Amino acid sequence: MVTLEKLMAYLETIAPLSLAEDYDNVGLLVGDRQAKVSRVLVSLDTDADVVAEAAEQGCELILSHHPLLFHPVRHILYDEAAGETLRRLVGGGMALYACHTNLDAAEGGLCDYLLQKMGITDIRHSLTDAARRDGIGRVAVLERAMTLGDLMEQIRDALSLPSLRYVGDPDELVQTVGICNGGGGDLVEDAYRMGCDLYISGDLKHHHGRFAYENNLALLELTHYDAEICFCDLMRELLTGRFEVDVMKSVRERDVWRRYQ
Ligand SMILES: [Zn+2]
Repeated sequence: MVTLEKLMAYLETIAPLSLAEDYDNVGLLVGDRQAKVSRVLVSLDTDADVVAEAAEQGCELILSHHPLLFHPVRHILYDEAAGETLRRLVGGGMALYACHTNLDAAEGGLCDYLLQKMGITDIRHSLTDAARRDGIGRVAVLERAMTLGDLMEQIRDALSLPSLRYVGDPDELVQTVGICNGGGGDLVEDAYRMGCDLYISGDLKHHHGRFAYENNLALLELTHYDAEICFCDLMRELLTGRFEVDVMKSVRERDVWRRYQ
């Protein structure tokens, strides 16, 4: 058992709250800092199913990437999804902690972890500031240039995805890779300015694709979920063995997007 306060202090050495974007809402969202924690459920998002799972598993803490409380709360209505989720959380005496853009930005955080999962290791600096190793997005340089096609195959297989959507020529060589996990479409211009051959992100729009096409920049889209579900593995790796806690990945959360074929 460990107090929630101690767990939080450790998480904040990995992902300092000061690294969060201004619009974000990270840290402890619900709970008692003095509560003892023996079981933790990790999830990308928090909904009523995830809270029910945490309750059934005897978890005192849910650790999520996306903050359930994001916009200022004006009411908590039990017949709305967020209200019902909060009712179950508070009713079950559970805590909720969000590690979001502060973890994305942190050195050794989610963006670095995603790159590592893809087998891309030579990470140089942030996508927006070449003088910083932390911050939003990353620029990595492959040890040896490879074709876009080979790199996409490597990424698709590493993340066990059925397919990928992209802009570019699969036979072109890529060496400098920009990435932003989550919805980083608007950083496509930063990737171009940083001299990337390829930019990888999620939630891309038509005009991001046009910009890439017109500027001879390859673009690879992961879904937001596929780019960030590794949050659960990262949290498990960070906490397991360090504290006397069982850390489990939610099995009830799912990518709400489905494909009709
Ligand atoms: Zn996200």
